[in-house]
Amino acid sequence: MTLRLGVGSVTDVGRARDHNEDAFFVDTTAGLLAVADGMGGHQGGEVASATALEALRAAIAEGASVPDAVRRANQAVHDQAAADDQLRGMGTTLTAATFGDDATLEIAHVGDSRAYLMRDGVLARITTDHSLVQELVDAGELTEEEARSDPRRSMITRALGMDAEVEVDAYPVGLRRGDRVLLCSDGLTSMVDDDGIAVLLASEADPTEAARALVTAANDAGGLDNVTVIVIDVIDDDETTSAVDPVVDDDPTVAVAPVAPVAPVGPPEARAAASSPTPPRTRGRLARTARRLVPLVAVLALLVGGSFWYARRGYFVGEYEGRVAIFDGRPGGFLFFDPALEADFVGLPVNELPPRVRASVREGETFSSIEAANDRKDELAALIEQRSGDTGSSSGTSTTTTTTTNGTGAGAGGSPA
Ligand code: MN
Repeated sequence: MTLRLGVGSVTDVGRARDHNEDAFFVDTTAGLLAVADGMGGHQGGEVASATALEALRAAIAEGASVPDAVRRANQAVHDQAAADDQLRGMGTTLTAATFGDDATLEIAHVGDSRAYLMRDGVLARITTDHSLVQELVDAGELTEEEARSDPRRSMITRALGMDAEVEVDAYPVGLRRGDRVLLCSDGLTSMVDDDGIAVLLASEADPTEAARALVTAANDAGGLDNVTVIVIDVIDDDETTSAVDPVVDDDPTVAVAPVAPVAPVGPPEARAAASSPTPPRTRGRLARTARRLVPLVAVLALLVGGSFWYARRGYFVGEYEGRVAIFDGRPGGFLFFDPALEADFVGLPVNELPPRVRASVREGETFSSIEAANDRKDELAALIEQRSGDTGSSSGTSTTTTTTTNGTGAGAGGSPA
């Protein structure tokens, strides 16, 4: 029996953003697949995800293990952010998988993109999100369902580029014929729950069609973020009655033999223990628990100390290149999270606001929802309109940017140059 991979991949800007900061990499010949979700103002998000994937690819080509390759990708993003003022604070998630000769998938992971395994019709998460809401779910403060719609859902507690060193989670998965692995950005998982993902994965035999169906579902649910999906099918070449469609010509595949021992679906440590050809996780449960407790304690202290302030974070109206802008996050960022620019408004120069309002916007005004932030933006637009009318010195810059719909940033002046 010879196993190979059939792969379908799709990335999409979604319905709300005006550019795509996600990136992915698929090379079945090298056996490397990865999803990265960048963040940071200016072009930072796109640069971070692209830089990480290129460094990952190069490291794997030089023979690095996938966790080491992710560490090298971290270094590359960090170095570039330090070298360029415009890119300072940029970061990216990275969830990468290598398909080895022993038919194991070695997954390395940082951030809140995810890897899932669907086996015998049952979907299981392989990775654990490094996010604030995941910490709160683990602490029993939020349900999974609440976490998906929480305004703090994009705050991640670990990302590439934030520090010279990064801790990388590793998950070896022994593959079986018929397994389907999913790598995706949070643009999918914040829009579609695990049950919805499972139904779509089970209903589309072709991996490309399955990837398309997942992206469509995320967009139909609102498409609030960029969405990236890689569907990886484990195909047995010798199987005569394959339920899986043949891989199309432009999808290169990789052959492997022999078949690795089967790993049970379960928590990562169970899978690691069962996957004998790959080295076991080097850290014990106690150490992992201790490490998890540190950010958790910090989070709980913040919750106790400033729950009112805390609950109101989500979006803020601030200044971006002299204009009124809406950011996802809070002024100054949280943990390793930096606010992401949602929309900037060409027609709304901050220095045309009344002085007191100007100072407030420069400091950043926080809102619990994008709708509330958009309402504030509309008020600011009216103030500027009013002021230019009063002085009779309309600059001609008042434009239709105030008529955004749904808080999507439609009408924004495009991404900054
Ligand atoms: Mn995202």
